[in-house]
Amino acid sequence: MFYNSTRNSTVKVSSAEAITQGISTDGGLFVPESIPELSLDEIKAVGDMNYADRAAFIFSKYLTDFTDAEIHYCTDNAYSTKNFETESIAEIAHLFDGTYMLELWHGPTCAFKDMALQILPYFLTTSAKKINLDKKIVILVATSGDTGKAALEGFRDVEGTSILVFYPEDGVSPMQKRQMKTQEGSNVGVCALKGNFDDCQNGVKAIFTDSDVKKQLDDKGMMFSSANSINWGRLVPQIVYYVSSYAELVKDGEITAGEKINIVVPTGNFGNILAAYYAKHMGVPVNKLICASNINNVLTDFINTGVYDRNRKFYATVSPSMDILISSNLERLLYLLTGKNDILIKEWFGKLSTEGKYEVSDDIKAKIKEEFFAGCCDDVQTKQTIHEIYEKYSYTCDTHTAVAVKVYQDYKNATGDNTKTIIASTASPYKFSAAVLEAVQNEKSDLDEYDMIDKLAELSNMPVPSALADLRNKPERFNDVIEKAEQKKYVLETLGI
Ligand SMILES: *Cc1c(COP(=O)(O)O)cnc(C)c1O
Repeated sequence: MFYNSTRNSTVKVSSAEAITQGISTDGGLFVPESIPELSLDEIKAVGDMNYADRAAFIFSKYLTDFTDAEIHYCTDNAYSTKNFETESIAEIAHLFDGTYMLELWHGPTCAFKDMALQILPYFLTTSAKKINLDKKIVILVATSGDTGKAALEGFRDVEGTSILVFYPEDGVSPMQKRQMKTQEGSNVGVCALKGNFDDCQNGVKAIFTDSDVKKQLDDKGMMFSSANSINWGRLVPQIVYYVSSYAELVKDGEITAGEKINIVVPTGNFGNILAAYYAKHMGVPVNKLICASNINNVLTDFINTGVYDRNRKFYATVSPSMDILISSNLERLLYLLTGKNDILIKEWFGKLSTEGKYEVSDDIKAKIKEEFFAGCCDDVQTKQTIHEIYEKYSYTCDTHTAVAVKVYQDYKNATGDNTKTIIASTASPYKFSAAVLEAVQNEKSDLDEYDMIDKLAELSNMPVPSALADLRNKPERFNDVIEKAEQKKYVLETLGI
């Protein structure tokens, strides 16, 4: 299997090269040149494996330059009860008849990003070895909260790597700040920046592309890499849990082999739902892919009209991980739907960066509508939904997942479709305790973050993930706060240059 760039179809690299490079030099994203197909029997057989073996089976179709031993080294290290709180890794909870919550947040940072960021370090170090990049990999991350913590947990103490995360001093939640300041591991660093997320991001990008810095790293036997969500190494692990959950439902007798299901995904950067699209085209019987957005509904409009327009107000919502106006992974979908038309992709994404807007052709609009349904909801509806399903089904979900549940209800009302449905549940409710507790109780709470967690535990009867419960007593290790202008100096000093 080779990988093409969405902006140049003649680019052809191995998966190890795609993963270490992250993004193609032409600015395009790496896409496998074909989608491997699974028979129904193969999918059913997945149900008899443990999660690490399920993942290894899917990876063997995409990472064909990896040996079986290399793949198993990655999956066995990433997907074990050492890192995840449940044996099944991706737990399925029953919400109501024919509706299943795929809980992807039993990992170390309590959000679905762990599913990919637990394995990415192993993919990266293995890939680097395979292509004889005999260098220490230095990961730089700018984060607005979730990604930074998940990357820190993924890379901590992974041999041959180190990681440095920058976050905006006043731009993350108190819990997210605690999570990062108390980070453990011998190869990790965390630093607050006096500025906003964009300042962090711009600084990191500037350091990445600074040829002087690159040379200095090179001399020391180091290289930069990115844990960003456009890396194919972050997307491919997400395909696994859609194949896995279908196989699991067949095994449990909830659906018959071959029966179609819907998949609902609370969406931001379009990575998670794109993985569901890949699973569908590998052979998982899927009826509709339902794309749920919060009030930053650029994707809802795009799927419904074919016009992508980021020229709009940006809202900070109670589902912050979906507060995004540019969904990078949409580029991969459009590349596939246009039959790999790199010229069109360059044209559309060029327009997106100059005018903030592009419109796809009518045949592409029709193809999108055939595969996807899109909807959105605001914060009031999100909280109402949390309250409703808490009352009705004694199930407590987080704000992002609630957006998905609400859009799914709207879909059912609009279409009358009774197809059985998997809803991707992307974060533990404890990670967004303030909003969830307010929704459950129908009033704002003035407790502190930890007392809110205790209160929520009392009301929901769900165990508090140890990763969050333990935070209270962990010592803070990282208290550096720097000016924007000091970022480069800080990176070099931290790396001992
Ligand atoms: C990142 C994230 C999302 C959005 O996922 P995308 O792959 O970016 O679409 C949804 N929910 C939570 C909790 C997240 O952390």
